[in-house]
This record gives sequence, structure tokens and C-alpha cells, in this order.
Amino acid sequence: MFSVLKQVGDYAKSTIQAAKYIGQGLSVTFDHMSRRPITVQYPYEKLIPSERYRGRIHHEFDKCIACEVCVRSCPINLPVVNWQFNKENKKKDLKDYSIDFGVCIFCGNCVEYCPTNCLSMTEDYELATYDRHELNYDSIALGRLPYKVTQDPMVTPLRELAYLPKEVLDPHDLPSGSRRAGKRPEDIIKETETLSQ
Ligand code: SF4
Ligand code: SF4
Repeated sequence: MFSVLKQVGDYAKSTIQAAKYIGQGLSVTFDHMSRRPITVQYPYEKLIPSERYRGRIHHEFDKCIACEVCVRSCPINLPVVNWQFNKENKKKDLKDYSIDFGVCIFCGNCVEYCPTNCLSMTEDYELATYDRHELNYDSIALGRLPYKVTQDPMVTPLRELAYLPKEVLDPHDLPSGSRRAGKRPEDIIKETETLSQ
């Protein structure tokens, strides 16, 4: 008798939980039903990527000391560092540096561990080519100045949807001077410094 009552109790509990989850799912559906579709007229309009977006890697050839830390920290040992030992100053001379973006997983490990900060992740996401071998960037391609949506005179930059202020659903209707949602990275750094003092 006791076990039957326990089974009925469990069943009722599961039913209530299932109804709660269905309700949660439907609330998201109904919320979207009241929204109008937003069209970003790419490539004339582009969304501004988030500050921590991990796009094409930029390499500063003159700052690189050919230490190969980036190769060791890369999960697939991807960067190719071509250097020659200079007997006069007993240092490595960098000859060429390349990363194949057809293989790179954009994890950012190499950027994180580079001791001279000569690597950085850019906002550049338009890497599509017809030939995958063209994704193997040499030091000249890696050294090209990073593309920025906000600095392209041909493009209307739109605020990324996740950063729209509360109650604003369309980046086209953004009131001028409105603050973006969430904290900016510099605000977070300032807060962390204050807390650590
Ligand atoms: S870790 Fe930095 S300095 Fe060292 S080889 Fe790689 S890019 Fe150059
Ligand atoms: S981003 Fe990651 S996968 Fe790409 S080269 Fe750097 S460490 Fe390797």
C-alpha cells in the first residue's frame, strides 16, 4: 500500500514538473510571437562583434622572438615558426610565421600565452575562400591591420543583439547615445582592481 502511494506521489511530482517545463518553453515561444523580424542588410550593415570576439589572429612580426610558446600552447601545434639561429648575437632570427585558419579552432591559447603579446585576436570573421589552402596565412597576411566594422566607411555598424539596452529589440531603432546592456570590459577591470585593493 505504501509503495503504491509513493508511486502515485512520484508520478504527480513528475507531471507537475513536466507541465512547468512546457509552460517555460511556451512562454519563450509566445514572447517571440510578439516580436517583428529584424533584418540586417549585410554587407551594407554589419553587427559589431563583442569585445571578446575571437576572429582572425593578428601577428606583429617585429615583436616576435621565435620562442615557439604559441606552438606548445596550441592544442594542435598549429603555428609554424620558421627561424634561424644567429651566432653573432646568440638569438633566433624569425624568418617566417604562419597559421592555417582552415585548421585553427580559434581557441585563443596562443594569444593568451605569447610572452611578448605579439599575437591578438581581431574582429575579422570574413575569411571565406574558394580554396582552403588560401586560409594558410603567412606573416604578411597575419600582419595585415585588423578589420573593424566601426571603421569601415562603406558599412553601417549595428549594435550586437545581445548588447541592446533593455526593452529595445531592433538595433536600427536605437536612440542616440544609449548605453549598451551589460558592463564594458574596462568597467569590469576597474571593479576588479577596486575589489583587490
Ligand atoms: S609565442 Fe609569441 S613571441 Fe613566441 S613564437 Fe609565438 S608569436 Fe612569437
Ligand atoms: S587559436 Fe588555438 S588553435 Fe588557433 S593557432 Fe592559436 S592556439 Fe592554435
